Amino acid sequence: MLFSKSAAKIGLVAYILRVLSKNSKDNMMEDTTEGILPFLEPGSGTKIVITTHHKPDADALGSSLALYHYLVKLGKQVTVVSPTDYPMNLHWMPGNDKVVNFEENEELATQLAKDADIIFCLDFNDLKRINRFGFVVHEASAKKIMIDHHRNPTGFDDYRFWTINTSSTCELIYDFIAKNEGEELIDEEIASCIYAGIMADTGSFRFNSTSSNTHRVAAKLIDIGADSAKIHALLLDNFSLTRYRLMGYVLYKKLHIIPELKTALVYLNQEELQRFNIQTGDTEGFVNFGLGIKGIVFSALIIDRTVMVKMSFRSQGSFPCNEFASTHFTGGGHLNAAGGSSMDTLEATVEKFRHVLPQYKDALLSSEE
Ligand code: 5GP
Ligand code: MN
Repeated sequence: MLFSKSAAKIGLVAYILRVLSKNSKDNMMEDTTEGILPFLEPGSGTKIVITTHHKPDADALGSSLALYHYLVKLGKQVTVVSPTDYPMNLHWMPGNDKVVNFEENEELATQLAKDADIIFCLDFNDLKRINRFGFVVHEASAKKIMIDHHRNPTGFDDYRFWTINTSSTCELIYDFIAKNEGEELIDEEIASCIYAGIMADTGSFRFNSTSSNTHRVAAKLIDIGADSAKIHALLLDNFSLTRYRLMGYVLYKKLHIIPELKTALVYLNQEELQRFNIQTGDTEGFVNFGLGIKGIVFSALIIDRTVMVKMSFRSQGSFPCNEFASTHFTGGGHLNAAGGSSMDTLEATVEKFRHVLPQYKDALLSSEE
């Protein structure tokens, strides 16, 4: 009895230490931007490029444009370069018309990066995430500042404002501007861009990455003029009819359930994408369908894009999508939301997915629904 009591105590102490050390790591903020702040003093005319991951989402584009407007107000020469195009439902964002698409204007984008003093890298931490523009950024002599909230940065940056313990890069942009004593420069346009990214990356403030700071920042943005209802409508009620046609087809015919592994799987080939005339952004959110089904803890969406097969993963509970993605599909991301890619055919990629999945049986069956 005595033995078991002290063993229980030791076990409890070990558990608390484990939780504390995990939390201190997860709470960690790495901020090495002090050295770059003098370059951001108002009026110094610094040339700045802001870039973000390929096929930017609302957080990626919102953070880029928010920072763009802020730096323009400080008197900088700023350009946002997107490695690719992005969905139509983001085109309302103020500054959208100034964004340079690398794929459409490679020469200009390359020159801007070559001439830049500073390149901000937002919402990614691995140059692979910006496709071929990554080589240009790598070669550029500019100082690189990474502002990001994903795990496992590869270390290409010179300065970083990084933590995994935040809802979104947009929330980090707010904190970065506040740290630089620039809160009074946040106007309605900047507030709307930041609000859109936070709203999108938190699933309208429902994911567990949503903290009290997220809500405090959102409240300040609303006070400044961000219109929550309008931004929700612009992002969520602004899709093409083709997206809904494809959605119907996917739900009716393409949502495969693997009940013994609590997994849902959707895959789409080129012919299907062409049949529905699918545009960038039309499959956004499809990976979540599977998770809405009782008993499902892991959901995968596999799409045959022109240059590669792209994969999205979502989970509920403790099942680590990011580990799954990085181990098998050269990807990464967060615990419950990750992605990857494959240069194999769609069929071979689906086959590999089905083949490796049973290795995770225990983790899948013990993940909380
Ligand atoms: P989504 O499924 O919405 O494209 O991406 C979900 C999450 O996974 C995002 O946080 C995104 O940054 C990350 N992610 C998506 N694709 C990749 C990838 O190919 N590599 C890495 N490292 N992360 C990815
Ligand atoms: Mn993000």
